[in-house]
Amino acid sequence: ISEEYRADYFRRRPLEDIERQNRGQQEEEYIEPVVEHQIPERAQLAELICTHVADIIPQDIVARRIHSAGLMVALCRRREVPRRYRLRVAPPQPPLIKEESPDLEPFPLVLAKSQCPICIGDESKSYEERMGSFCRPAKMMDHVERIHLEGRDPHAKIECYHPVCKSEGLVLEHVEHFKGHVEIVHGVKLREPRFVRSSK
Ligand SMILES: [Zn+2]
Ligand SMILES: [Zn+2]
Repeated sequence: ISEEYRADYFRRRPLEDIERQNRGQQEEEYIEPVVEHQIPERAQLAELICTHVADIIPQDIVARRIHSAGLMVALCRRREVPRRYRLRVAPPQPPLIKEESPDLEPFPLVLAKSQCPICIGDESKSYEERMGSFCRPAKMMDHVERIHLEGRDPHAKIECYHPVCKSEGLVLEHVEHFKGHVEIVHGVKLREPRFVRSSK
């Protein structure tokens, strides 16, 4: 049906236009649709990429590229809330659960530099074990590489184990992406595998 309608539209439309002109009527004005972006990063990115700018100096081009790359990375971490859920989500739930269940201890989003960002999500461990710090960040980095990442395909998707991210179902594209996320969001710098000291 829609294809027929489409064909019919293109058959009729030019005739209608000519008739309208003959009657001395104005042509319909094209009104640009208003696009609204929920995520500010997406709006900025659209603004940056889709607007045409002339007379721009090379430094500005580079600056715009860097800015848009940064926005793309930021956008990867954001997710739009489907419209139908938004209203229902809006009134924040009163934090009743906190008192009732002692195992729902708060885990800070930003961790100490020597806390393991993966152990913190290990529900088989005690709260103290999950929150525990290594003596030095380097020890924690070795631990992450050896215990959590060794033998893992670096190009495979990997979820963030932090309880906050886990509850949102955050999945990163690959290990590099995961490390970037852990550094930016959780404040924990991890190491590239080739820098892992092999101590046996
Ligand atoms: Zn760990
Ligand atoms: Zn995370």
